[in-house]
Amino acid sequence: MRICEYAPGELTGRTFECACGKVHGSTVRRITVGRGAIEAVPETVKALGGKRVFLVADENTFEAAGRRVCAELSSHGVECATHLLGTEPGFERPEPTERTLGNLIMSFPRGYDCIVGVGGGVVNDLCKLSATPGNLPYVYVPSCPSMDGYTSDSASVIYGGVKSSVACKCPDAVLADTEIISKAPAKLLLAGIGDMVAKYVSICEWRISALINGEYYCEEVAEIMRRCRKAAFDNAAAAAGGDPDAVAAVINGLCLVGMAMTYAGCSRPASGVEHYYSHLWDMRCLEEHRQCELHGIQVGVGTLLSLKKYENLKRIKPDREKALRAIRSFDLEKWESGVREYFGASADRITEIENREGKYDPDKCAKRLDVILDRWDGIMRIIDEELIPSEKLEELFVKIGHPTEPEQFGESEKSAEEAFRHTCDIRDKYILTRLLHDIGVSPDEI
Ligand SMILES: [Zn+2]
Ligand SMILES: [Zn+2]
Repeated sequence: MRICEYAPGELTGRTFECACGKVHGSTVRRITVGRGAIEAVPETVKALGGKRVFLVADENTFEAAGRRVCAELSSHGVECATHLLGTEPGFERPEPTERTLGNLIMSFPRGYDCIVGVGGGVVNDLCKLSATPGNLPYVYVPSCPSMDGYTSDSASVIYGGVKSSVACKCPDAVLADTEIISKAPAKLLLAGIGDMVAKYVSICEWRISALINGEYYCEEVAEIMRRCRKAAFDNAAAAAGGDPDAVAAVINGLCLVGMAMTYAGCSRPASGVEHYYSHLWDMRCLEEHRQCELHGIQVGVGTLLSLKKYENLKRIKPDREKALRAIRSFDLEKWESGVREYFGASADRITEIENREGKYDPDKCAKRLDVILDRWDGIMRIIDEELIPSEKLEELFVKIGHPTEPEQFGESEKSAEEAFRHTCDIRDKYILTRLLHDIGVSPDEI
């Protein structure tokens, strides 16, 4: 049986020798998706050796599910202390910053030996990080289907003002109660769909980078993601209407994404340029002390914008002379002042990334350009195979009520274009804007 044919709950405790050369496995020991999954929290905690639980939630998720988890634990003789995540000044929801994580760790009561996180992505990411240094057992009870980091071994945090991905342990168990999750606000479900449709772009860019840079790629992991994105697309309308089976299909997909990232040992299966729109909007919001939109919604709109950019790319025929002229005349000082203007306090961390990687180094760019020109047809074929027409996604978004424009959540066309320009600067991943630079096309041209 192929890895992509397993349900998430069947993947736990297994390893797979893969044609990509890796042995794929994850430390997640239990994944249960279904009605009443929350009742399994006490036995799961005990099976992991936990006796006293530190339960982490936020105000809303504590009401939605946390209080019930505490009651379940107490009635099974497990002590439970609670910490509710606070918010940054000007924010309605907790943000994954050093301060929020610091408050969480400093509230950890002595003698407690297990963490249970009840909530969305921020709760999960901060709990994973808190459980990592002491390798504490950690059980995650999602309260909503808003993002795909359920089972992954990385946490998305804002570190020194830069949205970063930090390595951490996976949850030991994920107990997704569809009865609770299907009652979550509809917008959170839309966010989960938004995060899943991103996988069109992420897999496309992973393959493109493998073709250009020889980056590690696993077809089996990619196939898991293709099935997840299809399940999300096909079930989106029914899930948005509250159908529990459709919601379960989306949640299964969200659980698989984290497994796939762990299998690949990188975030390539899950995120590409569409995610960087979101990271940049988050960073700007934090800098400007304004509430940012849910990750999955930003990513959904980022996916739509990225699909349109790829459609424009397909109309371009790269020209060697033009590309070489642009590569050689790239003004690093001008770039740096642009970075200072856009990123403000976190600009130093961005220039550090460039100093380390040298992605604008003209010789490296020229070398890549040769490969790109040689393999241009292959790149175009990948785009045709992996991406869907932007109108098709737009149609789905309109049907389910997912935003289609940045203006619908306090951003603008201008902020989206500015973000697009900087997508290549925040991480060292080879994405669309890096490809554009190498063929001498400015981000404003497409
Ligand atoms: Zn593999
Ligand atoms: Zn995401």
